[in-house]
Amino acid sequence: MPARDEVSESPPRRAKQSKVKGSVVILSNRCKGCSFCVEFCPTDALDMSRFMNEKGYHFPELARPKQCNGCDLCGMLCPDFAIYGYFERRKKKR
Ligand code: SF4
Ligand code: SF4
Repeated sequence: MPARDEVSESPPRRAKQSKVKGSVVILSNRCKGCSFCVEFCPTDALDMSRFMNEKGYHFPELARPKQCNGCDLCGMLCPDFAIYGYFERRKKKR
């Protein structure tokens, strides 16, 4: 056990922020509302929309765009090729 004066008082380090952010393209009329993309998005960036497509299904929307990292897991899981993710470069801070 470390001596009392060895204990650090500094706050824990934050994880390094990714240099890329992401977004998605949603082809809403292809969607059949299975919500796989929403359930398995690792950053919880998607929600199902309250609106319906022309087939009568709710489709996903990018509800929290800042959380999307462009990993395209949603695109890999979608059985109808109705969504895909892509990387965007972050704007440089001046
Ligand atoms: S995985 Fe595809 S079909 Fe299922 S809700 Fe998402 S976009 Fe629609
Ligand atoms: S690209 Fe990745 S982070 Fe963005 S919505 Fe799809 S699964 Fe989520």
